[in-house]
Amino acid sequence: MEKLFWQDAYLKKCEAVVKSLNFKDITLDKTVLFAFSGGQASDKGTINGNQVLEALVSGEDIVYSLENEPDFKEGDSVKVVLDWENRYKLMKLHTAAHIVYYIFKEMSGQTKLIGSNITVEKSRIDYEMDTPVSEYFEKIQAKLDDIIAQDLEVKIYDDETEAGKRWWEVGEWKMPCGGTHVKKTGEIGKIRLKRKNIGAGKERIEIILSN
Ligand SMILES: [Zn+2]
Repeated sequence: MEKLFWQDAYLKKCEAVVKSLNFKDITLDKTVLFAFSGGQASDKGTINGNQVLEALVSGEDIVYSLENEPDFKEGDSVKVVLDWENRYKLMKLHTAAHIVYYIFKEMSGQTKLIGSNITVEKSRIDYEMDTPVSEYFEKIQAKLDDIIAQDLEVKIYDDETEAGKRWWEVGEWKMPCGGTHVKKTGEIGKIRLKRKNIGAGKERIEIILSN
């Protein structure tokens, strides 16, 4: 399956051929619809107007579960349409989460990551730590605002040797990531940080779009 969202995260639709069909579950030869992985939520969208309820990574493929039994068959051409508004929020929040991770790491030395997740409402990063993460928020926010204002380039590219492995890079920061991201940090817009205590010795940073 050709993952067009890796070639161009801004692609909003494509024509595809149905590779397999099992009641309401289908696979395609190519797609613009991202499926949950690396903490990033699945895209919303339609295939020939039929709502995609779930997208699951299955080996090299993605299996889409449709709302209704489709009226097309294997080998047919279909139109895949992305819910762009939903995805664009995910892209902003995913890029912002990586940036917050690095800012906080440089500020506190904190690397005891115990989880992270990106939904359309917010992204979150969880740490193993004993002091309130909010003590750092003023400084993190200032640095984050600065990086967004600088409108830095977000580089996304394939690993040179490992197929399917992708890299995310902003300035000096670089990490493996198979998600979708904005092209420039300025696209993120205004961000608000929120603390959540998620249990003894655990702290959560929530990252929320505030425009
Ligand atoms: Zn990522």
